[in-house]
Amino acid sequence: MPLDSVDQQKVLDFFQKHSLSLPECSFCKNKTWNIGDLLAAILVPSPPPEQINFLETKPALLVPISCSKCSNTIFFSALAMGIGAAPPSN
Ligand SMILES: [Zn+2]
Repeated sequence: MPLDSVDQQKVLDFFQKHSLSLPECSFCKNKTWNIGDLLAAILVPSPPPEQINFLETKPALLVPISCSKCSNTIFFSALAMGIGAAPPSN
């Protein structure tokens, strides 16, 4: 799912709040990155998968950030960025 402008701002706010800056790409040394579409990853449960109903497993929401030159991609928790969750109640 593409991030709307509000969620894209949340990504930028997260980086600013935590004094983060994107490094140069470890593969190609490029310094520009793109925010990708929101991803959902299914977490592999610790019990044997054949004993789990995957339909009841909640996915982890991830924000991919990709190098604009070689597509090397890093992932951040969308929930940590305030994306995909209800706003705090307090
Ligand atoms: Zn790169």
